[in-house]
Amino acid sequence: MDPLPLGRCSHRNLSAKSTQCDRWARLVCSHCNRGVCVEHEKIHQEESQRRIDELQNQMNDLRQRLHTLTHEQLVENFEEKLDQWTNTCKNEIDRKAMQMLKQGKSLIEQLNVEEFRSNCLNQIENSLEPSQTHTSKLEEQIEQMKEKISYLQITNDGQIKVNHFLTKPSRDMMNLD
Ligand SMILES: [Zn+2]
Ligand SMILES: [Zn+2]
Repeated sequence: MDPLPLGRCSHRNLSAKSTQCDRWARLVCSHCNRGVCVEHEKIHQEESQRRIDELQNQMNDLRQRLHTLTHEQLVENFEEKLDQWTNTCKNEIDRKAMQMLKQGKSLIEQLNVEEFRSNCLNQIENSLEPSQTHTSKLEEQIEQMKEKISYLQITNDGQIKVNHFLTKPSRDMMNLD
């Protein structure tokens, strides 16, 4: 038999989604414009009708909701969406923080603490001289030192920055993505 222009029957067995009918289509369904074979016409029409009824119900629900719509409902709906958005953001931050913790720990493990300590102590001896420095200048320098001896810093866009102040230069920025 020659293939008809409508192609194969588009009916699918719903209980086993992968099985498609392999007969040639003889009719075009007026609802979905797909071809169906004679044997499946009735089943296909029934399924289409069920789907149409379902959609009709959804439309009626929508109409009902619109008829009784209030400001309060709109606010509630917005609050719900805002909650969802907040949760998504929190999860993303938690995920990123876990990732950064892992990355930071591994960077710190590679650090030679003895060497880092003595370098920092040298720096303090050499650059901070209370007798010759104004108090406010000294305060500023101490703040800078505190920053430097923290070794790892976090930039505003969530990157870990290795402070290789006086230690052997290594990778400056770690990209976590
Ligand atoms: Zn159809
Ligand atoms: Zn069929």
